[in-house]
Amino acid sequence: MNKLLQQLTEAVGVSGAEKEVRVLIRDLIQDHVDSWHVDALGNLIAHKKGTGESDLRVMVDAHMDEVGLIVTGIDGNGTFKFSPVGGFDDRALLGKVVQLGSKKVTGVIGARPIHLTTAAERGKIAPRSGMRIDVGATSKDNAKASGRPGDRAAFLTPYEEMGDIALGKSFDDRAGCAILIELLQGAPYPFDLYASFTVQEEVGLRGAKTTAAAIKPDVAFILDCTPAYDLPAPGDPDESTNVCLGDGPAIYVMDRATIQDPRLVKYLLRTADDHAIPVQVRRPGGGGTNTSSVQRSTYGPVAVATMSLPGRYLHAPTSMISLVDYGHMRQLMETALRGLTADVIQR
Ligand SMILES: [Zn+2]
Repeated sequence: MNKLLQQLTEAVGVSGAEKEVRVLIRDLIQDHVDSWHVDALGNLIAHKKGTGESDLRVMVDAHMDEVGLIVTGIDGNGTFKFSPVGGFDDRALLGKVVQLGSKKVTGVIGARPIHLTTAAERGKIAPRSGMRIDVGATSKDNAKASGRPGDRAAFLTPYEEMGDIALGKSFDDRAGCAILIELLQGAPYPFDLYASFTVQEEVGLRGAKTTAAAIKPDVAFILDCTPAYDLPAPGDPDESTNVCLGDGPAIYVMDRATIQDPRLVKYLLRTADDHAIPVQVRRPGGGGTNTSSVQRSTYGPVAVATMSLPGRYLHAPTSMISLVDYGHMRQLMETALRGLTADVIQR
């Protein structure tokens, strides 16, 4: 069992309320870095001194927050109204178990049961506006002991492994956090390494808007998760995929928000090739990561590259990753860091 992934994914950190995750990560890294601090937004920034061989400043980023729900009101019957935090597919919500607020009160996302719906209603997807979080309270007053507007609710999904596959919540982006923690726990790099564990990525790449300005890196790598859609329905005319589970970490060339630094893309692909590490190029298209905030930071432009772990069913209560991909992503990032020299980004 990968204890690190278990600890990180079972911790709760819906955007804007990442403290539990931040404290866990701080405890895991503090003996392996020279200094760390938390900025006003809640980003955790750590500095690991290098061996002095290179004066490059290198940053690696992973976001701590996860998608979830926020309480917007309490009904007279003691159930909680909510809105999503981050991008959500409402179809994934009904019947799921959540943990509400800092007391982690267990609740279930409910709606009118099938017995009481009409045939016409059963043909449609239940709208989110008709769903509530039910913690078993008997009245509005009774419910106030369990939570209040502004509290977050996270999915309650235990981490599980099935051979090379792991199931759990929030691999996006606790898997990236786990790799970054493992990188910090290793021996010093030729240059000073700055780790940024960022907040509020899922609500608009917000935490990373300030971290590059604080770190002033020459080069930044962003570690994230990207949806694997590799199960096209039979007869689906579009059988092309974004990325495939098990084919290795995904290197970005372009997404909706960023065109990656071509020198770093080439360097990552060459490093993978030289060390026989499986890798795939993410299909250029939609989506965005912290990379855009770091690349065009208020400090000035930064040479950036993004590497993502393929994950099925991201932004849903339970997602799936390959532990083999996870190992390859960690290996590729570590190998690329240890071999990185200033001439890779020389014009
Ligand atoms: Zn992410």
